[in-house]
Amino acid sequence: MAFGFIKTVFLAFPKGFYTTIKHLFKKPVTMQYPKVREQMAPRYRGKHYLEVYDDGTERCVCCGLCAAACPADAIYMEPAENEKGERYAGIYEINLIRCIFCGFCEEACPEEAIFLGHDYEFSADKRDSFIYTKDQMLANRPKEKPFKRIIRKVRRIF
Ligand code: SF4
Ligand code: SF4
Repeated sequence: MAFGFIKTVFLAFPKGFYTTIKHLFKKPVTMQYPKVREQMAPRYRGKHYLEVYDDGTERCVCCGLCAAACPADAIYMEPAENEKGERYAGIYEINLIRCIFCGFCEEACPEEAIFLGHDYEFSADKRDSFIYTKDQMLANRPKEKPFKRIIRKVRRIF
């Protein structure tokens, strides 16, 4: 008993303090989320967004190629026509529960309309909230950066 007490005081306690002090001055591996957010790698595939032309017209023509390429059957769309007779997606939805973020939809799109962005926050408490709508995808569009289109083309090669 006495030996156990001595062992605790003279070995275990100092060892514990040493471990604490050793880590006290190390750079923390955690961050103050959500105040601080992780910068994702350039090729990270997160939540999708839909691109528009400079005049604000949607690039998506509802051709269905992304849905055909999708291995998870996660994309649903319904075509519509505007007043000029141009086809666009009246409904365009992605089921984020089904999606495996493979990026095939982005690769298949001939209009450069759909992309996977860097947004990784999409927890929700209702299943319906995971149906990601066209309006949400348009709103999720990041700010245009210089050389963005060139970067996209390079990404497609690799
Ligand atoms: S990332 Fe892959 S799984 Fe998700 S919608 Fe696109 S093709 Fe389907
Ligand atoms: S996102 Fe691209 S591939 Fe999908 S329907 Fe629209 S234009 Fe076609």
